[in-house]
Order: sequence, then C-alpha cells, then structure tokens
Amino acid sequence: MTMEEVLKVRGARHRYGDKVALDGVDLDVHAGECVALLGPNGAGKTTLVNLAIGLLSRQAGEITLAGGDPRHAATRRKLGVVQQSLGFPNTMRVGEAVSGAAVRAGMTRGAAGPILAEVGLTDLLKQRVVKLSGGQRQRVQLAMALVADPALLVLDEPTVGLDVPARRRFWDLLAERRAKGTGVLVTTHLIEESAAVADRVVVLANGRVLADARPDVLVDRLPDRTVSARTTLSGEQLSRLPGVVSVDREGEHVRLTTRSPEALLRRLLAEDPALAELRVEGAGLEEAVVALTKASGTAVAA
Ligand code: ATP
Repeated sequence: MTMEEVLKVRGARHRYGDKVALDGVDLDVHAGECVALLGPNGAGKTTLVNLAIGLLSRQAGEITLAGGDPRHAATRRKLGVVQQSLGFPNTMRVGEAVSGAAVRAGMTRGAAGPILAEVGLTDLLKQRVVKLSGGQRQRVQLAMALVADPALLVLDEPTVGLDVPARRRFWDLLAERRAKGTGVLVTTHLIEESAAVADRVVVLANGRVLADARPDVLVDRLPDRTVSARTTLSGEQLSRLPGVVSVDREGEHVRLTTRSPEALLRRLLAEDPALAELRVEGAGLEEAVVALTKASGTAVAA
C-alpha cells in the first residue's frame, strides 16, 4: 500500500451559529486504506464528511482531497460518493444512471460498460432503478461512484438494509478497488462491520477525535470484562483465581471483573463442576467505543 494521502484534514473547526460541530479535527485517509468514522448522534460525522466532499465551505483548518481543494469541481471528479438517500427519477434505467455519471465525470457513455459488469448489473441494464431491490440499487450507486475511478470513495451507511450475502459482495468489490489504490471513508453505526472491514477506526464525539486506531487496538482498550455465574466457591477462593480484578457476590451469584476472561473461565470450570448460569459480558468494539465516548478527553492513538 502506498502511503499517499487521498484525504487530509487538519484542524477542522466548524460551527452552525453558536453550535460548535467540529472542534479541531484531524483525519487522514491514505491510498488503498479504509477508514471507518464512528460516533454517537450529533458527533460531527456528517459535518466532517460534507467538508471533505466539498458540500460545506471550510471555516477553519486545512482540507485536501486528492491533492486539491474539495470545493473545486476538478478536485471533486476524483471523488465517489455513495449516500443512503439518493433519489432516482422514476423513469431512469440502470444503464442510463451509470452512463450519465460517466458523462458527468468527463468520460464517454461507454465507460459505464465495464463498471456495470464489475458490480454485476449487466443483466439489469434496462431495468428502472426505482424497481430494483435495495441491494441492487446500492450496486447502481456504487457503479456511479466508481465509474470515474475515484481516488477517494465516501460511503454513508452503505450496507443499511442489505442482507448478509449482499454485504459481503459489497465489501468484496471494495476490496478489489482498494487493492488498486482507492481510499475509502465509511461512516457507519455498524461497529462490528467496520471492525471487520476498516484498517483504522476514528471515533468522533462532541466534534473531537476521541480515538484514531486500528480496530484491534481499540478492542484492547476495553474496560474489564464481567464474568457472572452461580457458584459455591467462597469469596476467598474466587479472588485467588487468575486475573480476577474484583469479586461481587450475592448469595451464590457472583460477578467477577477480569482482563483475561479466557484463563479465568478455564479455572472456574475446573474448580466448580457445578458452575451454572455462566455469562461473559462486554467484549467487542462496541463496548470500546462506548467506553471511549464516556471517558472524557483521553485520546487513543494507534
Ligand atoms: P448523526 O449520527 O446523528 O447523523 P453526526 O455525527 O453526523 O450525527 P452532525 O450532523 O455533523 O453529526 O452534527 C453535529 C452537530 O452540529 C450536532 O449538534 C447538530 O445538531 C449540529 N448541526 C448539524 N447541522 C446543523 C445545521 N445545519 N444547523 C445547526 N446545527 C447543525
């Protein structure tokens, strides 16, 4: 992977009247890289994306898209965008939608052919877009976004409403484009999915970057896991088990916190064959992000 930046944001600040939406944000997407932008509602994700794709004018900071200013039309030709709520005219057919996008990007109508084949829409060329399934329509949008071979592809919740095979196909297609150098910025609420597809996860909250790290690094920042069970082991026996941080007991029901649940579970099961109602809680990227957005002000770097 080359390390060329296809999107570079430095010190972006943005306010709507008195409301501060972005409060000094840095963001990089390199060629071939997939960056997931996560954060609670109102975090500033849409504002950041709209600045990056030139829909909003920059108020403060630097934003460079494929080496240029995203407000310039020539720069935006190097950008592909897939948005959730794009409407299509009632009569527009699949082939027309994609060849129209090719022409708008300064290419010939014929440029639509290969991309339609790539996303598997050749059989649906004459279909009206409004009659397609959600997954097929998503592929039309992807073809429109990819036709000009963009340096950066921006995806807004791209797999909402898609079934599992359609999702997998979507990410497989993107993997091929990424291998050829297209950078991807994806906003999503699907934390697990972004962990699976992203090279880096950027967590925004209150207009600031709380974390910018590989998904596995974020998971390592997890708070302690909780193991709960019904057991006859005494408090003293429990606190001697490996990796136990705390013991909280109510009759036979205990809650143990630990950083190493696997080792603890093995010993628990060995020492108490009558162990029942075993549960382990808190073990994914989702918890890491929630914990990060709750803990104020501590940034995490990769
Ligand atoms: P969501 O996940 O809900 O889409 P978001 O992370 O995309 O949220 P933004 O839409 O960027 O967040 O909003 C950031 C902040 O700026 C919010 O507090 C929002 O209320 C405010 N905001 C966004 N757009 C405007 C606007 N046009 N006028 C005034 N305030 C706005």
